[in-house]
Amino acid sequence: MKTFGWICIVLGGLSFIGAASAGHSVFGPVFWLALGIALVYFGNQKEEEKKKNEAASTLKPKPASIIVNKPVQATEPIKQKTYWEDFTNSNPSKAREIKELLRIDMSKLSNRDAREKIQMLERFSKSLGCSIPQTKATYLKEMEQYPARLIPQMIETTKREMANEVNMFHILEGNTCSTLMIEWLKERQQNAPKDESYWQVWKNENPEKAKALEALTDRDFDEMTTMDVKQTIKAFSSIAEKHNLEDWMDIKDYYVASYASFSENLGEEEAMRAISSILLEENNRVNVSMFNSVYNYAKQWIQEYKENNADRSLNPEDKFRKEYREKLLNKIGNNANIPLFCIGYDSPIAHELMYIMYQHLRNGELKAEAEKQGLWNTYMQIIVDETEKVTKKYCHVPLQECIEYYNFPDKPVVTRYRCPSCGSTNIMDDPDYGLECNECGRTWNAPYGKRLYL
Ligand SMILES: [Zn+2]
Repeated sequence: MKTFGWICIVLGGLSFIGAASAGHSVFGPVFWLALGIALVYFGNQKEEEKKKNEAASTLKPKPASIIVNKPVQATEPIKQKTYWEDFTNSNPSKAREIKELLRIDMSKLSNRDAREKIQMLERFSKSLGCSIPQTKATYLKEMEQYPARLIPQMIETTKREMANEVNMFHILEGNTCSTLMIEWLKERQQNAPKDESYWQVWKNENPEKAKALEALTDRDFDEMTTMDVKQTIKAFSSIAEKHNLEDWMDIKDYYVASYASFSENLGEEEAMRAISSILLEENNRVNVSMFNSVYNYAKQWIQEYKENNADRSLNPEDKFRKEYREKLLNKIGNNANIPLFCIGYDSPIAHELMYIMYQHLRNGELKAEAEKQGLWNTYMQIIVDETEKVTKKYCHVPLQECIEYYNFPDKPVVTRYRCPSCGSTNIMDDPDYGLECNECGRTWNAPYGKRLYL
């Protein structure tokens, strides 16, 4: 019988190593390992008992002689005590502990049941290395390392193991450790819906990522619905995967650094818009709600970064550049991703941009103030440069073309950038033969250089 236990240890041990290295769930093998150890222990106990009994039987008178004496006792009218009553008399505190642990009326049990249950509890508690009253808590603590969703699997394993226990100790199924284990597992399953939570399971499997999520979102995931938890995990994993960020804490750094570098080149507004549009697109792809999106958190991280860097003072030129750029970009607003010149190139947006530019260039107060500081030429240059950055990026035209359209809306503008017939920018510019449209074949000539009509 004992061999079975050793086989469990050997098999359990080997398959545990195999499963752990392959990254599979290790529940089954570990459980078998634990059970195997218990069975070897039980086996040893049983053998010792047997030896003791054998030794005792050679010293003591044969049981037959007791039987011979029995009729004498039977004649006495004293009611024979049950096994449980005997046990209670000789071990009052232990009897009380067993009663409390099993929560059954032990006095109603048959002698066999009582004996088998008491012996089973003694074996069980010894194999767990605890006292009888602590058996339940110790066993459940041992099993707690496995998520509650595995309980049905644990119960199945224990049911299979029950047959071995019955064979090994020649006891009834109802008096096995396995039966008790199953009862306690079922109780845990009913009483602990909380440790079933998707978050707890995921957190156990991904401790580092869970820690990062809690730090990055500042949310209590135990209080969230499973759907929110799932979506948040999905949103963050897709971003981490996309940018190859093993450590999820790097996700925040990635977006804050992107924002810092974008805003250096494009200004704060546009940097935020660029990052938002990337993140919103990603969010649509993974199909999670805005509340659970990385976008939602990136906004907070960037806000935090901005507040921490707010005291960085800008010189008057940089300040003016920033403010002017923001005015232009605000005008574009949500149209940022519309190809503005798709139908002709006298776009309303280009028109608006020109309006803002001329407003600044012709603003008497601004001009007087800038001249006082000796900065008017600088400001003019800033206005032109910044406007051109925006028209090139969003309207796909150089500033000059926008200016010509703005100032001469009725006069067909002839430029070196675009076919005057079809508006295509797919053109050939040959210094000897002039310009030719690759789309419609139109050939034309246009002046070089900027005429800004300021
Ligand atoms: Zn053309």
